[in-house]
Amino acid sequence: MSTGSEEHLARVCLDADSCFFVFFSFFFNPFSTVNLLDSKASQGELGWISYPAHGWEEISGVDEHYTPIHTFQVCNIMEYNQNNWLRTSWIPRKSAQKIYVELKFTLRDCNSIPLVLGTCKETFNLHYLETDEDQGALFREHQFSKIDTIAADESFTQMDLGDRILKLNTEVREVGPITRKGFYLAFQDLGACVALVSVRVYFKKCPLMVRNLAIFPDTVPMDSQSLVEVQGSCVNNSKEEDPPKMYCSTEGEWLVPIGKCLCNTGYEERGYSCQACRPGFYKSSSGSMKCSKCPPNSHTYQEGSVRCTCDNNYFRSEGDPASMACTRPPSAPRNVISVINETSVILDWSWPSDTGGRKDVTFSVVCKRCGLGRPPCEPCRGSVRFLPRPTGLSNTTVTVTDLLAHTNYTFEIEALNGVSALAPSHRQFAAVTITTNQAAPSPVTVIRKDKTSRNSVSLSWLEPERPNGIILDYEVKYYEKQEQETSYTILRSKGTNVTLSGLKPDTSYLLQIRARTAAGYGTSSRKFEFETSPDSFSISSENSQVMLIAVCSAVGIIFLTVVVYILVSRFCGQSKSKHPGEKRLNFGNGHLRLPGVRTYVDPHTYEDPSQAVHEFARELDASGIAIDKVVGAGEFGEVCSGRLKLPSKKEICVAIKTLKVGYTEEQRRDFLSEASIMGQFDHPNIIRLEGVVTRSKPVMIVTEYMENGSLDSFLRKHDAQFTVIQLVGMLRGIASGMKYLSDMGYVHRDLAARNILVNSNLVCKVSDFGLSRVLEDDPEAAYTTRGGKIPIRWTAPEAIAYRKFTSASDVWSYGIVLWEVMSYGERPYWEMSNQDVIKAVDEGYRLPPPMDCPAALYQLMLDSWQKERNNRPKFTDIVSFLDKLIRNPGSLKVIANTASRPSNLLLERSGTSDVTTFRSMGGWLDSVRTLPCRDAFGGVGYSSCDTLPKTSAEEFKKVGVTIAGPQKIVSSIRTLEAHAKNGPVPV
Ligand code: AMP
Repeated sequence: MSTGSEEHLARVCLDADSCFFVFFSFFFNPFSTVNLLDSKASQGELGWISYPAHGWEEISGVDEHYTPIHTFQVCNIMEYNQNNWLRTSWIPRKSAQKIYVELKFTLRDCNSIPLVLGTCKETFNLHYLETDEDQGALFREHQFSKIDTIAADESFTQMDLGDRILKLNTEVREVGPITRKGFYLAFQDLGACVALVSVRVYFKKCPLMVRNLAIFPDTVPMDSQSLVEVQGSCVNNSKEEDPPKMYCSTEGEWLVPIGKCLCNTGYEERGYSCQACRPGFYKSSSGSMKCSKCPPNSHTYQEGSVRCTCDNNYFRSEGDPASMACTRPPSAPRNVISVINETSVILDWSWPSDTGGRKDVTFSVVCKRCGLGRPPCEPCRGSVRFLPRPTGLSNTTVTVTDLLAHTNYTFEIEALNGVSALAPSHRQFAAVTITTNQAAPSPVTVIRKDKTSRNSVSLSWLEPERPNGIILDYEVKYYEKQEQETSYTILRSKGTNVTLSGLKPDTSYLLQIRARTAAGYGTSSRKFEFETSPDSFSISSENSQVMLIAVCSAVGIIFLTVVVYILVSRFCGQSKSKHPGEKRLNFGNGHLRLPGVRTYVDPHTYEDPSQAVHEFARELDASGIAIDKVVGAGEFGEVCSGRLKLPSKKEICVAIKTLKVGYTEEQRRDFLSEASIMGQFDHPNIIRLEGVVTRSKPVMIVTEYMENGSLDSFLRKHDAQFTVIQLVGMLRGIASGMKYLSDMGYVHRDLAARNILVNSNLVCKVSDFGLSRVLEDDPEAAYTTRGGKIPIRWTAPEAIAYRKFTSASDVWSYGIVLWEVMSYGERPYWEMSNQDVIKAVDEGYRLPPPMDCPAALYQLMLDSWQKERNNRPKFTDIVSFLDKLIRNPGSLKVIANTASRPSNLLLERSGTSDVTTFRSMGGWLDSVRTLPCRDAFGGVGYSSCDTLPKTSAEEFKKVGVTIAGPQKIVSSIRTLEAHAKNGPVPV
């Protein structure tokens, strides 16, 4: 056997029982040959035959190594017509298709032979004959086919034959394809002097080989030009990564290796086989890597380990990689300290001295109540709160609140890591025992007005959520609203109700309640407002004339109220009879809906947000909802119009907000948080929630349908088409909704015309509630330097600067909405950049009055935009101011001067002839001394207007007021003057 490259013998095992040796080539040109005949190697008789017998003759000799060899020679050059044949024995073909014949011979040069008589030749012929069996001595010359004429070539080596030197030629010829089972070769001499030194017959094959841990078997190439594709099989303890494949060429060479096998887990590649990892080593994945030493705190005593076993008291968690050291639970936290504040305690501790070799250490705190000397302690009940939480703490501190006053508690603080759960018996904790202090009760939050009369009122309330002890009594403090707490009355009540008597009829009172325990008074409740009933109608004889005037005034008031009511109802749809859909629904899981003090509950305070949704929103059956068309796009999905049919109710039009498919759990929570908020409100100017669909998909929020869509686009569509009274009616609705929200303690943060919806009766309703999304969702919201998104143009400076969002900042936004409404949807600050807006507002600039804007409304805008937020009016003031404007439409005829707009489109605060010079409406009126009657701007109780009729239009202009017409202003002032004395009269 010979190859064209360096070969090595290798032991290859296909499985445990069948190992063999193969030649492995380090170079990628491995091929081998298989001899079918080698005359040199044959020890015995060759059995070749000569025709005629005196032609070729066999001469036995020895080669240079004294090995016996067979040679045949013929040299009948002295005779004519030579035709001497030498035929080999029958050669079985085996699997060969193409065979090679290698001849080594010497040939005498005719010129070197003196006195040649015959025809001296310097060639001989090579023939072959295919047969399926050995034909014995039978020889028929004509059956043979000629392969080639063989001549001495130039590349020969010299052969020393004693006294003569002959040239040894080597010639190779290809024969094939051979299809029969065997063949003969024959050498024909036609008169040459030739000696056949050796004949080798062979074929080529691709030898068995291991490559990329795959075994490729012996392969005989095809006779044609094409390659033979051979699939390799993986060696023992390995598996296919990609199917291994090679091609066997016609030259018996392996070509193009593709794919490979990889040693199994627990085995590594050594030589051309996969060998098991030694004890103390492991291999956890199949691959070409070597076995690794066991990581710290682990071992293996077996061969072929996939992973190492942890030493005693060490563990490996499910997610730990095999290469990671085994670890153990941490030791207990150290240096626990507790700081008690009434019924709260701050627990603080140090990291454990031993983290067990892991980084994923967290802490958990278990609260146990150990009061009244009754060991063992019992677990704390549900009301105790942990901030941020009781388990999974990454910091070494926790605050525990809402504990019982004057009670013993034990807190067990445990450090945990990824293997703590695997080693319950190895876990250690640190414990601290505390006794809470006396604590005052929490505030009363729910107050109910039970009965009202002219001069008494009966109230009841619920006990505070956390009494922190036995409530000794309640302190009830009340005073007339307009007295502003300068004088007040205090009562004490043992129970949770009280009747206040001796009150003035038809008077507004404010009341606060606080509970008292042995630890003292708790915080007072929010202010609760109530009004006593009006005086009954009676006329005393001596005051009959005065009373007559009063009665007339009252009739006037009622008449005016009716007129205004009809107007407002017509334009803004306040009338319930016209708008049956306005009837409030009262639903929810027993959620207390009381008149008076009710506070907004942030759904974030619920541990489970879906609980909040079902607390405040009713679950609707999706089969009762029909979707008609898409009317808008919300952050979470489409907004559609449709119809809702509830059992035994009339079908109503609704808006349906859907949650798009593929939402995350967080998006679902944020989406539904709007319903949790909206569901807490019940007011004609707040968009009403009909319910939610959470138990089937798509998740939906269903609200009342607002036919005219959002206010900003509605106004832009109907530019200059409404009367001032209509606009004020809408504004009144928005203010009333906002008053309700601020009374509930809800800060909207994104009040803007785009977030107000308008129904077919022009009723405006505040919408767009939510938590984080409120601002994130708004396309107007821009990032501030402090982070967080804020709709700059609508937001008060303190909210932009340091996120101080309050009802006062909502009032600022309301001022902007007021401006948007009066300018029919103009964009506040036009195209100024957000940065310029922030700068201009900070420097005291304010938006100028919109075209034809009543001065009173512009003054309200300026008041809402007071830099000092406490100087801004409250929503309750705004509602009553607008009510008064509606009742006195004449007051709206004085138009704010727009002629003096500075070129930068904003009004300068420092101007002297402008309404913005004055801090408030009253201030401006004061400044023009006896000029226009202050009552003209709202009938807010200013002094009489004696000198007003004498005022010229020029003088009005001086102070930035345009008068609709001298006659009109005089008559409206007269009207207002009369109103100031007698109450409102119709105009
Ligand atoms: P929102 O996601 O609340 O900002 O709603 C997106 C848009 O859907 C709004 O701008 C309105 O045009 C429309 N839309 C929302 N709610 C209602 C509703 N109750 N009635 C009519 N249209 C609505």
